Amino acid sequence: MPVNRTRKARYARRRKRRMDLMEHDLSVEQWSALKAAWGGCAYCGEPDESPQRDCVLAISRGGRYTLDNIAPACRSCNASKCNSEVIHAGIHYPAGFLKSILCTSGNRLLYETCDRRSIPHKRLGKLIVATNSEECHELEKIREQARQNGVTDLALLGRRQIRILEPEVKAEAALFSPATGIIDTHSLMRSFCMNAEKHGAITAFRSCVTAIRHDKQGYDVEINGGDYRFTTRVIVNCAGLHSDKIAALAGMDIDKLGYRLKYCKGNYFTLSPAPKLRHLVYPVPVKNNEGLGIHATIDLNNRVRLGPDNEYVQKLEYSVNESRKHSFYQSVKNYLPNITADALQPDMSGIRPKLQGPGESFRDFIIREEKDRGCPGFINLIGIESPGLTSCIAIGKRVSSLVEEALQ
Ligand SMILES: Cc1cc2nc3c(=O)[nH]c(=O)nc-3n(C[C@H](O)[C@H](O)[C@H](O)COP(=O)(O)OP(=O)(O)OC[C@H]3O[C@@H](n4cnc5c(N)ncnc54)[C@H](O)[C@@H]3O)c2cc1C
Repeated sequence: MPVNRTRKARYARRRKRRMDLMEHDLSVEQWSALKAAWGGCAYCGEPDESPQRDCVLAISRGGRYTLDNIAPACRSCNASKCNSEVIHAGIHYPAGFLKSILCTSGNRLLYETCDRRSIPHKRLGKLIVATNSEECHELEKIREQARQNGVTDLALLGRRQIRILEPEVKAEAALFSPATGIIDTHSLMRSFCMNAEKHGAITAFRSCVTAIRHDKQGYDVEINGGDYRFTTRVIVNCAGLHSDKIAALAGMDIDKLGYRLKYCKGNYFTLSPAPKLRHLVYPVPVKNNEGLGIHATIDLNNRVRLGPDNEYVQKLEYSVNESRKHSFYQSVKNYLPNITADALQPDMSGIRPKLQGPGESFRDFIIREEKDRGCPGFINLIGIESPGLTSCIAIGKRVSSLVEEALQ
């Protein structure tokens, strides 16, 4: 490896470590001790995964973290930390679906919360670009779909307007969505966590739900194979990639109910050198119901990233599939003609908890109390893939009314 690359890599590692320390306020010794004590993920208990420095689960009431109030987790457990961090406008989802309703209301609620709680975000806006006449025709359909969802602020741009907004983008026409933006998800999660604690919530780390028994009194929940247990009348199952397993623990037949999750990895590549983009740039989505197409996003540090794609996987395993580089390049060069294949570097991946398998029709979020299935007070949130981040506050409000109803 050339000397300047080695130096660059060393510098990036040091910078990342400094940032991690700031984020979690952990000393190097604390992190070493945590790693040494690793006996499996604090949540899922998976021993084969490695602990993730930025997946430390921590609550600090007094502003300090000690080894008692932090625990390392593996990355497999959490979709919230490996995603595009895009605040979606709610353009593409079928009207009447929870994905559409909760995304459009969630978009507004999330911006309000970010402003109120000073959570870093930017309302960058996005372009959906059409590179040929067939795609131009699709833009009209997308605009109509958006209108049905209550998104009425899309503007149709021609070639000249696109060139003024994004000189490096080549397109025949584009839809501009001013309400799409980006957010620092980690700050958002920290803010939620602190707010919940302020209102009396207790967070239990190193606590994996391993059994649920249901009787007339409610639910008896076993943690870590019997380390401790508690009883409750209401359970909100929001276990992301493991939410189907939690439903199964409560006795639900997840195959019969269509609750079994399929894992769909999204690989990301960075670009170096990167085009100078000021907006998020999306292609017209391909018609396979699996995603929005390989798009170019910008993070809050102005880094341009491509992805995610869709790769159904059997295991929660997060290496970036480098063999996808060529297909990434092929998809993106249509609208970013100045990039070269060599500019693509593997970046990160995230895994979606999908209800639909490859080629299957579009599925909505499942958010429901399972009273009619003999589980009163058991609220399932299954298949919370994108736009789950955008919708999070709207989902929270919906769940809160379900909880109130269950407790009446
Ligand atoms: C590649 C990718 C890109 C995405 N991009 C976007 C985007 O740009 N915009 C957007 O709006 N959405 C996006 N999403 C979707 C968004 O990230 C998710 O919808 C959201 O993060 C889901 O949050 P969650 O809290 O439901 O699940 P998670 O964040 O996965 O949290 C689940 C929690 O349950 C815990 N848990 C699991 N099992 C157990 C157990 N047995 N006992 C106790 N606890 C348990 C886990 O540890 C974890 O903390 C993306 C997702 C992916 C994967």
